[in-house]
Amino acid sequence: MGYKKPSFLENMAEKIGIIPNLHKDKRQEFDGDMRHFTDEEVAEMYENFPPPEKWDNWVEYDPKVWPKKERKTYQIVPTTCFNCESACGLTAFIDKETQEVKKFEGNPHHPGSRGRNCAKGPATINQINDPDRILFPLKRKGKRGDGEWERVTWDDALDTIAARIRKAIQEERHNEIAYHVGRPGHEKFMNWILQGWGVDGHNSHTNICSSGARFGYNIWYGYDRPSPDHANAKFILLVSAHLESGHYFNPHAQRIIEGKMKGAKLATMDPRLSNTASMSDYWLPTYPGSEAAVLLAMALIILQEGLYNREYVENWTNWEEYLKALHSDKAVTFENYIAAMINEYKEYTPEFAEKESGVKAETVVEIAHLIGEAGERFASHNWRAAGASNLGGWAVARALHFLTVLTGAVGTKGGTSPNSWNKFSPTQPNPPKPQKVWNELHFPKEYPLGFFEMSQLLPHFLKEGRGFMDVYFSRVFNPVWTYPDGFTWMEMFSDETKFGLHTALTPTWNETAFYADFVLPMGLASERHDINSYATHGGTWVAFRQPVLREAARRNGKPVEFTYQANPGEVWEEDEFWIELSWRIDPDGSMGIRKHFESPYRPGEKITIDEYYQYIFERVPGLPEVAKKEDLTELQYMQKYGAYEIEDGESYKLNEKSLSEEQVKGSKVDPGTNVISKGGKDIGVMVNGKPVVGFPTPSRKNEFYSQTMVDWKWPEYATPTYIKSHIHNDNLDKSKGEYVLVPTFRLPTLIHSRSGNAKWLVEISNRNPIWMHPDDAAKWGFKTGDLVKMNTDIGYFIDKVWVTQGMKPGVVACSHHIGRWRRPQDKTGNRWATNTVDIQSDGKGGWKMNTLSGIKPYESSDKDSKRIFWKDGGVHQNITHAVHPDPISGMHCWHQRVRIEKPAVGEKYGDIYVDTNKSHEVYKEWMAMTRPAPGPNGERRPLWFKRAFTPDKTEGGCYYINDEKKEDS
Ligand code: SF4
Repeated sequence: MGYKKPSFLENMAEKIGIIPNLHKDKRQEFDGDMRHFTDEEVAEMYENFPPPEKWDNWVEYDPKVWPKKERKTYQIVPTTCFNCESACGLTAFIDKETQEVKKFEGNPHHPGSRGRNCAKGPATINQINDPDRILFPLKRKGKRGDGEWERVTWDDALDTIAARIRKAIQEERHNEIAYHVGRPGHEKFMNWILQGWGVDGHNSHTNICSSGARFGYNIWYGYDRPSPDHANAKFILLVSAHLESGHYFNPHAQRIIEGKMKGAKLATMDPRLSNTASMSDYWLPTYPGSEAAVLLAMALIILQEGLYNREYVENWTNWEEYLKALHSDKAVTFENYIAAMINEYKEYTPEFAEKESGVKAETVVEIAHLIGEAGERFASHNWRAAGASNLGGWAVARALHFLTVLTGAVGTKGGTSPNSWNKFSPTQPNPPKPQKVWNELHFPKEYPLGFFEMSQLLPHFLKEGRGFMDVYFSRVFNPVWTYPDGFTWMEMFSDETKFGLHTALTPTWNETAFYADFVLPMGLASERHDINSYATHGGTWVAFRQPVLREAARRNGKPVEFTYQANPGEVWEEDEFWIELSWRIDPDGSMGIRKHFESPYRPGEKITIDEYYQYIFERVPGLPEVAKKEDLTELQYMQKYGAYEIEDGESYKLNEKSLSEEQVKGSKVDPGTNVISKGGKDIGVMVNGKPVVGFPTPSRKNEFYSQTMVDWKWPEYATPTYIKSHIHNDNLDKSKGEYVLVPTFRLPTLIHSRSGNAKWLVEISNRNPIWMHPDDAAKWGFKTGDLVKMNTDIGYFIDKVWVTQGMKPGVVACSHHIGRWRRPQDKTGNRWATNTVDIQSDGKGGWKMNTLSGIKPYESSDKDSKRIFWKDGGVHQNITHAVHPDPISGMHCWHQRVRIEKPAVGEKYGDIYVDTNKSHEVYKEWMAMTRPAPGPNGERRPLWFKRAFTPDKTEGGCYYINDEKKEDS
C-alpha cells in the first residue's frame, strides 16, 4: 500500500491553508492509519522509537494541542503491563516538568511483545488517573460489609496484621493464615514470603482458570503448560475461546499472524465465532465438551494412515509399559503397539466425531491430514476454553498433546514446547525451606490429583466447619464477583467466625473488598516491582516491572526509600509491603522468620527492594556481562531497558540433552524401563544407548499409558480418552428448554475484573448479552434486545438476547467480564462500569439482586466522566453458577446447564436470584464423584506431580496421610 497520495481536494485545501499540510515530505507525518504503510515502513517506525540514549530527554509535539506545535519533554521509563499475564513491555512517558505519567507506549526492547500491545496496555494510563481509585489505606468502621471506612496509616495496618499472624504462628495455627491471589505475577516472591513464615498459606485462582488443561498436559510429560512456536509452524490448532482466552494474547497473536504470513494454516475450535476463529482458515464450531472426541478421531486417522513420526513415538513414549500393563498377551513390539492403539481408538471415527461435535467428518479428515503433513511443525494450544469448561475438560489437553506426540512436534522448532523451557526462574536470597504443614482447606484429601488449590470450595469448606481463616489476604482477587456462587462467598465473608481478619490488597474497589476489614491500595503496572518471564515463543526473556515515578526520581537524583513515597497518594507496592510485614511479625528474629528477609549484602539488616532485585539479576545468565559492557550494574541495566533476552531459539528438544559424565558416574539404569537414577532420584533415561535427561515423568518419557492414573483409582483413564461432559446433549432435557451456556469467553478489550477503572476499555465493551443463533432465537421467538431468563441449577439471571450467526446453533454464550456492581452504601468505585444494585437476603439462603440504576455520567477530575454515553452495565452471571469441581483435576467446570425461558411479568433486566442451600447441595453432588487420597504408600498426592508452594516431602511428613499409611502397612 505504501504512501497514500493526497486527493486533489486535500492538495488544494493544504495549499491554501484550510487544513495543515501533512504531505510536505511525501509522507503523512502523523497518519494514524497504519494500513497506508508497507510492512517495511512499519518496521522502520518501530526502529525509530526513541533510542534509549534519549530516554531521559525526549521531545515530542503535544498531540492534544494539534495543529499548534507545542514541544513537550519526557523521560521515558520502561515497565511491563499488568492487564493480563503476558507482561508485555510498556514505556511510560513522564512529563519532565510535572513528573506526571502522560501516556504508555510499547517497549521495542521487550523480546516477548517487541514494541506491540493490545488495547489494554496503553489503557494503563486510565487506571492510574481513574478518579475513583483508592489512594490511602482504609479500615472498616461498623459491621463488616456495611460500607463504612476510615483512613489509617500503613503503620496501623501493618502492626495490626503482623500481631495477628505472629499470634497464630506462635499458637501453631499455621493453617489459619492464607493469601489468596487473583492476578499473580511476583515470580516466586510469595513462595519466599509464605515459606519464610512456615505456612502452607497459598491459595490461587488457578482452579477457576487453567487447572484442567494443566492436568491434561502434566499427565503426559510432567510439564503443565504449552509453549507453541507459532511463528515457525506449518499448521496451528487452537482450542480456544479467543486468542487463547487472553493468555499471551498479544505476543501469541503477533506470532500466529507471522506464521500465517509465512504460509501456516490456522484452525480454531470454538462454538463461538471469536476474533481468532474469524481470522482462521478453519473454524470448527465444536459442541462444547466434544473437543476430545474430535482430536482422538484425528489421532486415529494419523495412526491408520501412518502419518505419525515413528522415530519420535518409538523413542519418546512409554509404549512398552502400555503393552505390558494392558496387553500382556502380546509381544512387546512397536508394530503391536500401533495395532493396539488403532484398536483402542477404533470408535473415534470421523463420523463419531461429527455426531458428537457437529463438525463435518470430511473437515475432521482434512485437518488430520494437515496436522500429519505439518509433522514437527505442528503448533497447538489449549488453555482455558474447553479445558476449563467441562467435566473431564483436562482430557481435551491430553488428547491435543496426543497429536503433538504423534507428529513428533514436542519441543521442536515450529512445534509445541513445555513452557518451562522458555521461562526464567529467579534465585532468591536466603531461601526458606519447604513448610512442614499441609493445609487441607487448599488441598483436601478428596482431590489428590487436583492440580491447584480447591479455592472455589473454600466457602463451602468453611460452611461445613472444616476450618477457620484467622488472617486472610485477598490480593487482586475478587471471588464475590469472579467466582461461581458469589453469594456463598458473601455469606462467609460476612461471618467473623469464618474469616477473622480479611485484608484486601487491591489497586481498585471490587465486590470482595466491600467485605474486607482493611483495604490496602496496591500499585498498578507502573507503580510496583515484579519480575516477568513467560513462554511467548521459542526463546527466553526476563522483564522488569518497575514503579516508573520511583525510577524517574532516582534518575533525577531524588531517590525515595519506599515506593509509596513516589506513587500517587500512599499507593504502595506488594514487595515492600510483604518484606515490611514479615519483619514486623518477627521483630527480634526469635521466630526464625526475619532471617529470610535480611540483606544478602548487609548482614543482619532489612533487605531493600533494590537489593532483592539486584541479587536476582546478578544471577540471570549472560546479563552481568552485557550490563558490564555499558558500565551498569545488572539492576541498572534492567531499570534502563526493562527487559533482557536470555536466549532466542535455542531451547528446542531439551529432553534430548545428554547427561554429563559427572551425572552418569555412580548412577543405575533400570533394566525394565531404562530409567537412570542416582542417590534415589531419577535423573534421565537411556534412549538409543545414550543417557539423556528426558521428561520429568516416572518413565522420563511422554506417558501414553499412565500408571499414576491407575494407582490413584482412575484406571479407566489410563490412556488418553474422551469423557462425556456434564453438559453433553445426553444430560440436557431439550423438551424443558435446557441448553448449554458458554460463559468462558471475554471480549478482548476487557481485563478479568479490572476493566472498571479503564474508561477507554469500558467505552468499547460494556454489555454482555446472550449470544444466540437466529434458528434458536426464532424457536423461542426472541429478537435482539428481548429479555431472557437464564435459569441455572441454583437460581437465575435476566439478560438481553443478541441474535447472531456467530454462535453455533443449540448453544448460547455470555461474556463473563461485564456486570460489575456496587451497592448504594459502598464507596464509589469503577463508575465507568458499575451498576448500582440492591441486594436482599431472606436470611435462609435466598438472595436477590436488582439493578437500581445503570451507568451514569458524573462530575470528577476527569472531564470524560461527564461524557459517559453508555448506560447498560450488563448482568453479573457468575454469581448464579454453582461450583462444579472436576473430580480429577479440580478445575471448575464453567459451562452451565441452563433452562431458557421468557421472564415473567414484573421481572426486569439484571434481576438475579440464588438459593445458597441449593448451591451447597450441588457442591455435595460433585464432591461425591471424587476418589480421595491416600494413594500408594499413604501419599497425599503423586510425588512426581508439581504442587504450588511444595511442602516438605520427607517420608512420613506432611506429604503423607500417616494414619492411613499405618493401616495400609
Ligand atoms: S496482551 Fe496482556 S500484557 Fe500485553 S498489552 Fe495486552 S493486556 Fe497488556
